[in-house]
Amino acid sequence: MHQTSWVASANGHPDFPLQNLPFGVFRRASSDEAPRVGVAIGDEILDIAACLAAGLLDDASDEARRGARACASPSLNALMALGAPVRRALRDALTRLLASDVPVHTHQTARHALVAQTNAELFLPVQVGDYTDFYASVHHATNVGAMFRPDNPLLPNYKWVPIGYHGRASSIVLSGTPITRPNGQRKGPADEVPSVGPSRSLDYELELGAFVGTGTALGETVPVAEAEEHLWGLCLLNDWSARDIQSWEYQPLGPFLAKNFASTISPWVVTLEALAPFRAPLAPRADGDPMPLPYLHHTDDQARGGFALTVEVWLRTARMREANEPAVRISRGSSLDLYWSFAQMLTHHAMNGCNLRPGDLLGSGTISGAAPDSRGCLLELTRRGAEPLSLPNGETRGFLEDGDEVTMVAFAERDGAVRIGFGRCVGLIAAG
Ligand code: CA
Repeated sequence: MHQTSWVASANGHPDFPLQNLPFGVFRRASSDEAPRVGVAIGDEILDIAACLAAGLLDDASDEARRGARACASPSLNALMALGAPVRRALRDALTRLLASDVPVHTHQTARHALVAQTNAELFLPVQVGDYTDFYASVHHATNVGAMFRPDNPLLPNYKWVPIGYHGRASSIVLSGTPITRPNGQRKGPADEVPSVGPSRSLDYELELGAFVGTGTALGETVPVAEAEEHLWGLCLLNDWSARDIQSWEYQPLGPFLAKNFASTISPWVVTLEALAPFRAPLAPRADGDPMPLPYLHHTDDQARGGFALTVEVWLRTARMREANEPAVRISRGSSLDLYWSFAQMLTHHAMNGCNLRPGDLLGSGTISGAAPDSRGCLLELTRRGAEPLSLPNGETRGFLEDGDEVTMVAFAERDGAVRIGFGRCVGLIAAG
């Protein structure tokens, strides 16, 4: 029998049961309160600093109380910097506090530390100092490579190196922030010279983001077996991409203005502990693929470095909204389709001594699988617009149009475990 919570809405909640407790930053809507750290529980948010002030954590461990003190802060960075042991201790203490078997007088007090999510304003959970986007789905790399380089789809380094590029942290925005169609230089294959104007092939990319907790010093390397001690938790990431700008600018130095106008993250950071029941082996490498080099190979990571998460993209156009029609799901994939684990990405990132700091964000790269409906961006789903999607109301989409709203979700479920979810990662396209 799984543990339940005295917060009634948590029991059976598809995303935020007692077993999840993802961390975010909030305050009461229309208030001038200081934003602070809380955990989502059912339809509510538990205010951790308020629990500390009310004496509800008096019996908790020193580590848990250290963590709780770091929650009176407008970002998760201070808590993340305290590392995995403090996160685990705080999470255990909050689980005990929210469990059904807590004494009645305790939950009567703790009830005052709850804020309804409908009555809360959410903030970016993390001040991201550096953002690195990887390219960890071999299906995505192959599909995209085939469009940009038909004769040479998968470059020879792909199966050896976790490929990535340094992204832009300043334009990371919270779910719900409108996305303005970017201007840029566009040049199609038939154009003699580039033109300047709003992107005509605006796309999303479905990704997971991993936050660094404990940082690394300049010059320090991280064995892959220890990499997860530096990872704090995961979120959803939409790496908005302007394909016409990208195809013209990307050589020889990689993505630039096609990507850095906005990247959206979900408001709740799901901890590795919440994801523990959903760990899985890394996808088997195809026959003939090289083994990961020794510094990227460890039996524990091979055996449980993956996360069995279902990831989906939903689309609602302006016409669908006007007609009060619901969003339609346009893809469904699995994060088990990634070729590299987050532990391998982190170890590779640090192998040259590059230092990582608390709150740094590592993007997985677009999550695509082998099945056509598991492709994580429109570039792949519509073959660069050549095979547009047909929507139930008769509209078609090659790329995103103004007024389109893209929603990403991720969840984990299996027999013997309580389902958890990430909440939503939403962005609506506004005219440029
Ligand atoms: Ca990307």
